[in-house]
Amino acid sequence: MRRAILSDVHANLEAMKAALTAVDELQCEEIVCLGDLVGYGPDPAEVIELVRDRGIAAVQGNHDAATANPGGDRSFNPWAREAIRWTRDRLDPATRAWLGGLPMSLGLGWALAVHAAPSAPEAWPYVLSLEEASREFQSFGEQICILGHSHVPMIVEHAHESSAMLGPEGAALLSESRYIINVGSVGQPRDGDPRASFGIFDDDDASYTLIRVDYDCRRTARKIVEAGLPPVLGERLLVGH
Ligand code: ZN
Repeated sequence: MRRAILSDVHANLEAMKAALTAVDELQCEEIVCLGDLVGYGPDPAEVIELVRDRGIAAVQGNHDAATANPGGDRSFNPWAREAIRWTRDRLDPATRAWLGGLPMSLGLGWALAVHAAPSAPEAWPYVLSLEEASREFQSFGEQICILGHSHVPMIVEHAHESSAMLGPEGAALLSESRYIINVGSVGQPRDGDPRASFGIFDDDDASYTLIRVDYDCRRTARKIVEAGLPPVLGERLLVGH
């Protein structure tokens, strides 16, 4: 059985459609989204509709929370705050409430899903370094924790009381090891590769693989400008940063 894990879609409909096409080609039986469906991008309602139509299980991200809760954008930079206000105006109250009702974490049985970090999902800390990841292993009981938030793919393996950073492209999942895995971002990658990023877990060979797919990021960047959102939010899509 294959499972697809998508995160940080950020209202980027072109990237989400390209990712889902790849997910369907890979015949994944379960799709989970790790939050930040909206914010930054030009198609929040369309992305939410797609997620709901496809029955994709989702956790809440900080941009989802800030859209749902007035005043929730206080810690955001000016561009992000402007995009949240723009997003809020384009979603009806029921859709905003749906975003605010998404769970902070999901126990999937085989993994724990959160947006930011298992130790404090509602405080949105980043897990960027080996040291930060290694502390997080005490905060969940599952073998695997999948997360997003930084938009940078990462795999940290924990075994025999020590942690190691693996290459982000994929890993064989050993039964005696535990893992924290960041699947990167579908809609606003920040690792220098502009292609949409997501992860696939395959039960058959106990593997995890990072997938990258091309999409028409110029079209999304154009839509961002046409929508009156900060142009920098489109320019960064072209370089993946
Ligand atoms: Zn995000």
